Amino acid sequence: MSARDSAPVRLTILGATGSIGTSTIDLVRRDPDRYSIVALTAAANVDRLAELAIELGAKTAVVADPARYEALKLRLAGTSVEPAAGPEALVAAAARPADLVMSAIVGAAGLPPTIAAMEAGASIALANKECLVCAGAFFMATAARLGTTVLPVDSEHNAVFQVFDRANRGAIAEVILTASGGPFRTHSRAEMARVTPAQALRHPNWVMGAKVTIDSSTLMNKGLELVEAHHLFGMAPEKLSVLVHPQSAVHGLVRYADGSLLAQLGSPDMRTPIAVCLAWPRRQGAPSVPLDLARLGSLNFEAPDRERFPCLAIAETALRQGGGATNVMNAANEIAVEAFLAGRIGYLEIAALTTHSLEAADRAGLLVEPGSLAAALALDSEARAIARAELERLARAS
Ligand code: NAD
Ligand code: MG
Repeated sequence: MSARDSAPVRLTILGATGSIGTSTIDLVRRDPDRYSIVALTAAANVDRLAELAIELGAKTAVVADPARYEALKLRLAGTSVEPAAGPEALVAAAARPADLVMSAIVGAAGLPPTIAAMEAGASIALANKECLVCAGAFFMATAARLGTTVLPVDSEHNAVFQVFDRANRGAIAEVILTASGGPFRTHSRAEMARVTPAQALRHPNWVMGAKVTIDSSTLMNKGLELVEAHHLFGMAPEKLSVLVHPQSAVHGLVRYADGSLLAQLGSPDMRTPIAVCLAWPRRQGAPSVPLDLARLGSLNFEAPDRERFPCLAIAETALRQGGGATNVMNAANEIAVEAFLAGRIGYLEIAALTTHSLEAADRAGLLVEPGSLAAALALDSEARAIARAELERLARAS
């Protein structure tokens, strides 16, 4: 990708209709000649997908839901965009020759197409956390084997990536991820017990998809990000930490043995980290509002409270336990968040359901590092089954 000065960057966007997908397309629109769009994908929204594929001149548009194939075909009739549907078509589209693949599907469904894109030789702009949380060791080993460039999109990891001196990795003492603390940063446990989905979906600083917004409010998102950082930067769990910073101006920091603490700052706008990935190893413009520190006046920091935010502690324990545990934790948390959004469980039960599922998976001997894509996906579905059973138990008890 870096070698092309004049030829357009062949770009595929997995999850084109989502929050990260939309921000990526916003940047593409500002410099359309720089890109040649290979494939765009979406879960089910064929109208939006077809509209984007036609506008950007994509070679193919893929909807994950096979039942929507005819609808997509109809919307693309008379255009040069090739329609396709279903999980295999998603993987095939990801494997089309491309320089860069934006991996922005939410959930474990992002794993197979991202691996396929790596196998096909593309660089990966990685937004999908689940690739690292469900199969981090396997994912990074695959990237190392193939020599894949993996560029972190997640704002904290993108920040760390910008200040992480690989040539001096031995002198790196600590990697710090900041967390806004979410909408309930100052809530008591009693107040949190009454939190509704609508309240949890209102993030103070960032506009994101629903799942990651709920995870931000419980600090599970930060827990998942510790797992991400562990794999992306090869840092031991004890060298990773979380710092609550309500203004979301400082996104990530790297502490060096000589006492230097290097940070990346910016407005909370995902178009900055996405622009870093699109232009890497160069720099390009982005429409994010420049951070005005004088106007902000002050920056605050505090240690996270693991008693009020048990999801962070659950993730830290799972990270120390290894890949099987983070995979199960992720699946259970997804089921729990879904159940909370559907009004089936209370806010505090998100952590409880995740813990019970991890314990049940441990008793069943499932907390084993997945060594392949198939093993990671199998563990993910076993963990979901366990979490659903725990959910029924919890729902019956309340
Ligand atoms: P989103 O829900 O807004 O969008 C998800 C996209 O994936 C959509 O295009 C959707 O159609 C597609 N999709 C969903 N389920 C699918 C399935 N089963 N098969 C195929 N496609 C499917 O999510 P988002 O907020 O854009 O997040 C995407 C990923 O990036 C997540 O892993 C998230 O944790 C990560 N992330 C997001 C942000 C953010 O600011 N939004 C920040 C950091 C990391
Ligand atoms: Mg983040």
